[in-house]
Amino acid sequence: MKFGAETVKRSVALMLIAAVAVACQPMPSGTAITNVTVIDAINGVRENQTVVFDGDEITAIQNVDAALNVAETVDGSGKYLIPGLWDFHVHLSYDDRFTPTMPAQFLSYGITSVRDTGGLMHRILPIVESMRAADAIAPRVFFAGPLLDGQFVVYDGDDRPEIGVQNATPEQARETIRGLKEQGVDFIKIYEMVSPDVFEAMVETANELDLPIDSHVPLSLRASTAGPSVDSIEHLRNIEMDCASNSAELHEERLERLRNPDGISGFALRSSLHSLQRLPAIANYDQERCDEVIATLESTTQVPTLQLVSTGLVPPWSRDDWDDALDRLPAAAAAGWKELTDERRASPAEDVDTTFAEWALFLTGRAHAAGVPIGAGTDTPLGPSPPGYSLHTELELLVRAGLSPIDALAAATVRPAQFFSLQDEMGTIDVGKVADLVLLDADPLDDIANTKRITQVISKGVAHDVGDLIELAGRP
Ligand SMILES: [Zn+2]
Repeated sequence: MKFGAETVKRSVALMLIAAVAVACQPMPSGTAITNVTVIDAINGVRENQTVVFDGDEITAIQNVDAALNVAETVDGSGKYLIPGLWDFHVHLSYDDRFTPTMPAQFLSYGITSVRDTGGLMHRILPIVESMRAADAIAPRVFFAGPLLDGQFVVYDGDDRPEIGVQNATPEQARETIRGLKEQGVDFIKIYEMVSPDVFEAMVETANELDLPIDSHVPLSLRASTAGPSVDSIEHLRNIEMDCASNSAELHEERLERLRNPDGISGFALRSSLHSLQRLPAIANYDQERCDEVIATLESTTQVPTLQLVSTGLVPPWSRDDWDDALDRLPAAAAAGWKELTDERRASPAEDVDTTFAEWALFLTGRAHAAGVPIGAGTDTPLGPSPPGYSLHTELELLVRAGLSPIDALAAATVRPAQFFSLQDEMGTIDVGKVADLVLLDADPLDDIANTKRITQVISKGVAHDVGDLIELAGRP
């Protein structure tokens, strides 16, 4: 057989094209979760999707039939994929028995981001550093540093953890916040004992430095005055006092007592004002007045921490999976709560006042209906609030308060991202967003409790089987 020179040239050319084609075909990379129902609070429900992530980025969301060139495939048939959840109110440095395993606890419950709302810098900084290490199995962490209190400090370390610092003057407040910014805090947390001029200085300084502001309503101020200046408020704290028909009178009474003529501790002073005014304020609830207050909060995310404030109404130890939640904790951390559980089950507490719990559920529903953004946070490990587990209780209670399941998901995904102006990077399942995802084997929109039916957690682009995370989280 004879080949002409042309034929040889053509064959060589074809071989070259084939070789180049092979070289151009990218190496398979990333992971695809196939044939899954994708749910997030902005895009709603998308069925039969394949979601591809590569490193810490979602790189494709496509119809199941499209061709794939990935290194790994996870069959998502019959499963539901939601964005990684946030616990928007945690204290990583509050109790050493919990601190070491909190990151894995959170992840094992699908929580891929946490906001730490109070801890002294020398305690919280090393924790943040270890959670942010390149190989750490830990949620993303955002932190405030200490509670910024006023002349009197509630959490002063005397008989209770020291997590607050004094800001007696506007100058001191400005200096404190500038120092915190230099040390890398992501936001600040204003506490209850600050005076109006210190509050103003804190807000001004945080705005100058581009730091989001979290707060309790300071006792010297009213919710409708302080609320619009801050980005989030915890526990609906002190809002009831501004929703009362006699709110002006209550405010005057507080200003008088805040002068603290007897020189009692910040903690005692704060508690005395709560005991004096909270229930009477709720008894004087004035709907019209409260609607005006709520209207001033339309841009201020409310983090009602319902699971914390409603333990009298919905006791955690009455929940079906409570024992399992305690068993997932390291023994030393769970011991106190197990004891409490046994006691309460043996002799249920009588005469528990549930007024505030009921009011908190009611107000959360009303605020949500009026368009106030709601965030899902727990205050773990204060409580009893097992890290991770308690966020799911919070989601259930948000639904009980009147949020739809998808709005409850927004409270644990989109709202926290918005607080940090990170909504273009996290909070939904979209191409270009970070790879924080939770794979569920039941539909969370059918029943929000299905957010606990977790099979896999993807954190910063790394997929973890939930069993591995539970094992890691239970190690002492
Ligand atoms: Zn807290």
